[in-house]
Amino acid sequence: MKQYDYIIVGSGIAGLYTALLAKKQGSVLIITKGSIDDCNTKYAQGGIAAAIGKNDSPETHFKDTLAAGDGLCNTEAVRILVNEASARIADLVNFGVPFDTVDGEISLTLEAAHSTPRILHAGGDATGEHMEVTLSGQARSSKIQVLEDCLATEILVEKGVVKGVKALDCRTGSIEEFNCCYLILATGGAGQLYKFSTNSDVATGDGVALAFNAGAEIADMEFFQFHPTTLCLPGVTPFLISEAVRGEGGVLRNVDGHRFMPDYTPEADLAPRDVVARSILYEAKRTGSDRVFLDVTHLPPHVITTRFPHIYRFCLDHGLDIIKGLIPVAPAAHYMMGGIKTNSWGETNITGLFAVGETACTGVHGANRLASNSLVEAVVFGKRIIARTTKEAEASSNDQGEEIRYSLSQRRVPKTVPPPSRSALQQLLWDKVGIIRHKEGLTEAADVLAAWQKSLPQPTDRPSYELNNMVITGRLVTEAALLREESRGAHFRSDFPQSLPQWQHHIILAK
Ligand SMILES: Cc1cc2nc3c(=O)[nH]c(=O)nc-3n(C[C@H](O)[C@H](O)[C@H](O)COP(=O)(O)OP(=O)(O)OC[C@H]3O[C@@H](n4cnc5c(N)ncnc54)[C@H](O)[C@@H]3O)c2cc1C
Repeated sequence: MKQYDYIIVGSGIAGLYTALLAKKQGSVLIITKGSIDDCNTKYAQGGIAAAIGKNDSPETHFKDTLAAGDGLCNTEAVRILVNEASARIADLVNFGVPFDTVDGEISLTLEAAHSTPRILHAGGDATGEHMEVTLSGQARSSKIQVLEDCLATEILVEKGVVKGVKALDCRTGSIEEFNCCYLILATGGAGQLYKFSTNSDVATGDGVALAFNAGAEIADMEFFQFHPTTLCLPGVTPFLISEAVRGEGGVLRNVDGHRFMPDYTPEADLAPRDVVARSILYEAKRTGSDRVFLDVTHLPPHVITTRFPHIYRFCLDHGLDIIKGLIPVAPAAHYMMGGIKTNSWGETNITGLFAVGETACTGVHGANRLASNSLVEAVVFGKRIIARTTKEAEASSNDQGEEIRYSLSQRRVPKTVPPPSRSALQQLLWDKVGIIRHKEGLTEAADVLAAWQKSLPQPTDRPSYELNNMVITGRLVTEAALLREESRGAHFRSDFPQSLPQWQHHIILAK
């Protein structure tokens, strides 16, 4: 059996950046279930947040992050994020990420709920692609061992300590075991749980399901961010129209051409994502339409083509010239705020098991993520994981503030139900566990998911392992959403529309 110092599962920004640091400390293996650049990272458009502007400060970034997080951010983790962001940006520059500049200075843009321009970008709206290509190029040239088409299926734990991981070779169907001192899950999010999603096909919540099965604590799963504006054209999978488009002056209009966001909130088009997403649903329903429109026709054409070349080109390729015409948009599932609970060094409650990036819940995002805080979270906490494993850092508590622990509820399920399909699961979560939730729908979804979990056959290949993981992760989202009888951040219950002080705590699910 092969033994490594570090095994890293996933090759998005979190996995690659952490691997590049880890290789200076010992042997490293990256396992990734598709090709190296199959991930959400490469789709990131808007950019990466850091308080590097002349009129900005970590303190302002701290306050903006806390405001978006709606009372549930872990303030220690946010403090770390905002203070360490600029040093990690310097690392990315050193690795070769080509951030856009104006007159030799890094160019910064504004995004919703940031009080000042602090978003660095690359290639206009192709930030994630530049990061992924740069970091994967570095990983390849540094000769880090990368196993592509290799899907982690089980975390090996003995007496509370990680020993390694089992993985499926997706090409041959064989299972192999790999041993390590430190296992770092960087498996990304779970947007594929939903029928409409901005996420890549790989975002099936595998890390959360694997960690849960191994006994790790899972936090804040009820908080799933829906992006308000994805291109809504028949036969086209949702394509993100970045928040930065509204940051640059784009406005939302209803089917009658009326600019409606000021009717809902004084922050208008730059309100937090959950507010904009719900306002879109209400406005579409009110006007009897299934969509609204984003208008950038008043912006100078060169702003559109230079700031958003990727969006401009994508729309043009689908017959829509956004310089002249309105962009039909609708919300879609976008980002998992919850995940595998970690302390401020990326450690889980299982010795030797770490989590980083979207699969981790460091507590930075609380109940709602501030735009562009996820790429920076991945690098800030990736660096801290390596510091912890090299004993540069002392152990710290895993406490993220007030928490209540639950296990998945026992549900009475029929003895035999047919196993689900991926699309049936996505439809169920979209209909019952989506942007607007209520007890009846959540209970129905929880019952169906529990029944599906019992009916699933032993997985044998990538699709069947992913479906198993989606059922488990879907159950965690649904059960947490059912437990939280209030509305906060991205979690909105029509039967409990207010935030309630007694709910200002985290929901932790564990076996
Ligand atoms: C369209 C879009 C736009 C976005 N824009 C921004 C933005 O502008 N700014 C920002 O900060 N954030 C943005 N985000 C969010 C951000 O891109 C992600 O949160 C971030 O890239 C996640 O990085 P990651 O490394 O954690 O996961 P990913 O980049 O998704 O990588 C996960 C990796 O894990 C692998 N994997 C998963 N399961 C397994 C398994 N079982 N075995 C082996 N490998 C596995 C995958 O194949 C993949 O390589 C955006 C997201 C999307 C979808």
